[in-house]
Amino acid sequence: MTELLLEVKNLKKHFPVNKGLFGQKKSFVRAVDGVSLTIEKGETLGLVGESGCGKSTTGRMITRLLAPTEGEILFDGRDLSKLNDKQIREARKELQMIFQDPYASLNPRMTIGETIAEPLIVHNMMNKKDRIKKVHELLECVGLTSYHANRYPHEFSGGQRQRIGIARALAVNPKLIVADEPVSALDVSIQSQVLNLMQDLQEEFGLTYLFISHDLSVVEHISDRVGVMYLGKLVEIARKETLYENPKHPYTKALMSAVPIANPRVKKERIVLQGDIPSPSNPPTGCTFHPRCNACMEICKTEVPLLKETSPGHFSACHLY
Ligand code: SF4
Repeated sequence: MTELLLEVKNLKKHFPVNKGLFGQKKSFVRAVDGVSLTIEKGETLGLVGESGCGKSTTGRMITRLLAPTEGEILFDGRDLSKLNDKQIREARKELQMIFQDPYASLNPRMTIGETIAEPLIVHNMMNKKDRIKKVHELLECVGLTSYHANRYPHEFSGGQRQRIGIARALAVNPKLIVADEPVSALDVSIQSQVLNLMQDLQEEFGLTYLFISHDLSVVEHISDRVGVMYLGKLVEIARKETLYENPKHPYTKALMSAVPIANPRVKKERIVLQGDIPSPSNPPTGCTFHPRCNACMEICKTEVPLLKETSPGHFSACHLY
């Protein structure tokens, strides 16, 4: 039987924008505008969408690097949105994040061993001898060696740095890892190595992932279910196979039509999206995708479509269904 690890309800992040000569708050950027999702223990949920759709902000709120404006983050029975700073620091033992640019997240003045051991020190876990042993074990786990513990970040390639970032995230035995574009800065050949490593570690340690990426092929490789975000909202979510074989939302269809297919006999019609993503400070009325949608109807301009189950486990926010 599956067990729920995370349930996010109506999560919102509205950033105030100061306008005018005296800096009065006049509007809000609706970076995330009512996202609800669940992740089961041991599952990988992929989150995709164009740049600026709110997927990274969602990930940062779930790990409480950002405070939500509204909504609930139920993690293993607790609502993370209600925790104070001290409680958040404590909860981070179970919620770790992997970033796109591992170099920026590594302190150039700390050795790799110190970097990986740092979360153990912060959370007061283990004595020095055990910490050193743990660092060496983690380096082996991510395909490096204990020899690397005394080296500095600049001595490593991009792929190796991401392995170090993963080892650091694993140090405190987290239950959930939010990986925000973890392979986007890497060469394609290195990308699959890091993705395979993440899958192996998931099996070994029973990890649960929220995997955020703009790259549909990468998300397909690693995810069990995939959610598609557009302008701060989740517009479609389903099991990976269902979503990639039978996307329902016109936005998902357009994204899928741009993914290359290896088989040259399979012909796919490319749907080119018109225009740019509208500003999240002034989103269109009704369905926010309507100015770019090739199936737009009158109702779409005025009524917000709700995320509804259109077939078992397949949810779509579109008036066509
Ligand atoms: Fe297109 Fe209307 Fe569906 Fe929005 S609700 S995606 S505008 S058809």
